[in-house]
Amino acid sequence: MDNCIFCKIVAGEIPSAKVYEDDKMLVFKDIEPKAKVHLLCVPKEHFAFLSEADDKRAALIGSMLQTVGAHYKEWGLEEGYRVVINQGENAGQTVMHLHMHLLGGEVLGW
Ligand code: AMP
Ligand code: ZN
Repeated sequence: MDNCIFCKIVAGEIPSAKVYEDDKMLVFKDIEPKAKVHLLCVPKEHFAFLSEADDKRAALIGSMLQTVGAHYKEWGLEEGYRVVINQGENAGQTVMHLHMHLLGGEVLGW
């Protein structure tokens, strides 16, 4: 997608503090962390909303969560973490490329 900042990060056109990459997804540090550890999990495929998830994308999202579950201890989240997916205006979604926030590294308030 043209003009999508996360597509540019996936393509390596914009630098990111990457902590993990595989054929489906990238995990990198959020540039404006809202917790001691704040990572973003971004699928390599561009789509913005869960409402655009067909079976293939649903499997992709499941696989991303499985990867988080397999690697969170390596990312400083061993004491617990929160997974957040912002969708749309009321949630404050600013990047229209689906992503999961991983928040942790400290006790989180609501
Ligand atoms: P959301 O509000 O759910 O759309 O989240 C977008 C997140 O992307 C925000 O937490 C931003 O701080 C983060 N962000 C925006 N640009 C970058 C970037 N170039 N590198 C890392 N994180 C970014
Ligand atoms: Zn994109």
